[in-house]
Amino acid sequence: MQILIISDIHANLTALQAVLSNAGEIDSAWCLGDLLGYGPDPNECIECIRQLPNLVCLIGNHDAAVLNLIDTDAFNPEARQTIVWTQNALLPENETFLKSLPNKIQIDNVTLAHGSPRQPIWEYLLDSYTATRNFDYFDTDFCFVGHTHLPFIFHLKNDQNNASLTIPTPNKKIELSPRAILNAGSVGQPRDRDPRAAYAIFDPDQQTWDYRRVTYEIADVQKRMNNAGLPSRHIQRLSSGW
Ligand code: ZN
Repeated sequence: MQILIISDIHANLTALQAVLSNAGEIDSAWCLGDLLGYGPDPNECIECIRQLPNLVCLIGNHDAAVLNLIDTDAFNPEARQTIVWTQNALLPENETFLKSLPNKIQIDNVTLAHGSPRQPIWEYLLDSYTATRNFDYFDTDFCFVGHTHLPFIFHLKNDQNNASLTIPTPNKKIELSPRAILNAGSVGQPRDRDPRAAYAIFDPDQQTWDYRRVTYEIADVQKRMNNAGLPSRHIQRLSSGW
C-alpha cells in the first residue's frame, strides 16, 4: 500500500506536478494542509489535489487565513499580501472545499495534523522539548505533520523521557518504529536550503517511510509569481529553498 504524504504545497503547481509524476502509482493521498499562500496557482493546486485517490486533506494556517477563519496579523506583511491576492483569485467551489476540511484527523494508527497534534493550526515543532510534550496529544503510533517546511522525525521510545530528532536522508526508505512524529517537508516552498520539492510515501503494511526530493522548473513558477505581482522575496527564496 502506497500512501502519498504531501504538505505545504503553497499554490505551487509545478512542484506539485513534479511530485505526482515522481511518486508514480499511489493508493491514497494524505495532504497535511497549506494548499494555498505564497504561490501563483491556488485554484489549479486545489483542483489537482482533489483528484488524488482516496484523498484525506487537512486545512493549514494559510488556508484558514484565506478563508478569514483566523486573524492575519500573525503573518508577515508579504505573506498577508499574498493571502489577499489569493482571496481574490479563489473560485467559490474551491473555497467551499477548503471550508470542509478538518485540522486534525486520525486514520487507523496514524494521527494527521498541520502544525502539531496539540495545536493543529499554529504550533511549530522545531525542537525536542516541544515535540516531546506533543506525544501526549495523540494515541496512535505515528503522527504526521507539516507546517515547518522542514523534514524531520521525532522518536519517543518507551524508556526515554525526551524525543530524539533525526533529519532523514532523501531517497532512502526507512522502517518505522513507534512512537514517532514525522514531517515530510514542503512540496511548494522547502526551507531547509534544498530547493527541491519534498514529500514521502508511507506504507502502513510494511511500516516504511520513503522520504523523497524531486527537482522541478522553479523558474516557471517564479515567472507566474512575477506576472501576478507577488512579493519578490517569496519569488527569490524558491531558488535556494529558505
Ligand atoms: Zn506552510
